[in-house]
Amino acid sequence: MSFPKTIDEMTAVGYRHEGTANCKACQAPIEWWHTPNGKKIPMDHGTATPHWSTCPNADDFRHPKVGRSTREALDE
Ligand SMILES: [Zn+2]
Repeated sequence: MSFPKTIDEMTAVGYRHEGTANCKACQAPIEWWHTPNGKKIPMDHGTATPHWSTCPNADDFRHPKVGRSTREALDE
């Protein structure tokens, strides 16, 4: 399983944009997306980069509701 590299790819495989917000940990602008598996993930604003991969406070994302399958895909 490969992770989409662009927003176009994300929407093509079934991701849905949910809304924008600011990261509670670092205040960066982020976008919430629903994955095809029904999970919610935070992306860096305007990109297909999961925010936990760039957030300086990424440890705050380590809770079970964040899509584990997505993180595993990123580790490939
Ligand atoms: Zn952050």
